[in-house]
Amino acid sequence: MGEQRVNRCLITAERVWDGRAPEPVREGFVRIEGELITAVGRRADLGADAARDTPHIDLPGATLLPGLVNGHVHMALSGSDTPIRDYRREARAGDAALAVRAVRNLRSAVESGVTTVRDLGTVDEVAFPLRAAVADGLVPGPRVLAAGRPITVTGGHCHWFGHACDTAAEVRVAVRRQVRDGADWIKLMLSGGNLTPRSNPLRPQYSAAEVRACAEESDRLGVPLAVHAYDPVSIRRAVDAGARTLEHCLFETERGIEYDPVTAELMAERGIAFVPTISGAMHRMRDAAPGTPAPVAARFHKKQTRIREVFRNLLAAGAPVVAGSDAGVPQRCFDGFPADLAALVGDDGIGMTARQALAAATSGAAEHLGISDTGVLAPGRRADLLAVRGDPLRDISAIVQPIVVLAGGVQVLRPPGA
Ligand SMILES: [Zn+2]
Repeated sequence: MGEQRVNRCLITAERVWDGRAPEPVREGFVRIEGELITAVGRRADLGADAARDTPHIDLPGATLLPGLVNGHVHMALSGSDTPIRDYRREARAGDAALAVRAVRNLRSAVESGVTTVRDLGTVDEVAFPLRAAVADGLVPGPRVLAAGRPITVTGGHCHWFGHACDTAAEVRVAVRRQVRDGADWIKLMLSGGNLTPRSNPLRPQYSAAEVRACAEESDRLGVPLAVHAYDPVSIRRAVDAGARTLEHCLFETERGIEYDPVTAELMAERGIAFVPTISGAMHRMRDAAPGTPAPVAARFHKKQTRIREVFRNLLAAGAPVVAGSDAGVPQRCFDGFPADLAALVGDDGIGMTARQALAAATSGAAEHLGISDTGVLAPGRRADLLAVRGDPLRDISAIVQPIVVLAGGVQVLRPPGA
């Protein structure tokens, strides 16, 4: 399979970007021992010492940067055109079938350069054992932060694998169960969702009091809360209750997109991050598929443009952003996250610079997801690293060509010829 733990290793590259600095270091190095980074600096400062470092991986023309954090995935969903049909079939076959799917997804994520994923909805029986299997080195993959079963209403968004909770008391019980069973995050489906027929993505599923119960209980147990919210009422409810991250955050209503600057200001003030779940595929399809009837294509185009405006406005207001792709849902593959990042950049995207988009998937993601041991190349951090050909800080499309990936000191992708 090719993955291998490195005991001690020196990597040199034309550029080393630590995840935070305005510019990469030219001709830099990173030294690794076990699962940790022990030194980062300029190659010129290595001195004669360097000869002791074996193996030495030299990457001319490449950029070394922190491994990526995908802030929103569903490890047991296929990412095909019909992930729910696939899910139901595999769930009927048993948890082992879902786990096999998850193994494949996690492997494809880490080989694309993703070294941490936050799973925001997978049955506990798959999510928690897979988290452990990666941590124990049984399967290659990114480190997993897992919410396990999401909390939703009867028949609500993702009810197939959620806790059905219809009162504040039931929500509290579900939070307690998830924390007892090992959840790193609590996921609340506050709006309905497009994946779930007969749920309404444009209205809240829960009252303000029920959302508060969820946030209070999560807070009491010290586990952060991620809230799925499409519509402005749900978004505001999540902000008022004290959610840590807002998933999707489209401000979509039956009347169209209705952005609320007051909510955005509150998010900025309280440091509540939004996870835009924009996909590279959707982005490329923003003018709708060829052959789409003109009025449908026009509506699609208008909506995509308005959604990008929402995210630009949130960024302008100072709301923090965490990159996340919703990998597993239709057309969102686990190896597609680097391409999804490119969809955040420039006038065609949501106006971020390449550096801002990369920070949202490295140092910024680590900060807002509360994982201070990764996301930055610095001594003492996990050896989560990615090397790509070219300079992704100048041209974001370079991020889709990984040549080396280390996840917690385990080398899962090695340079060609090595
Ligand atoms: Zn999702």
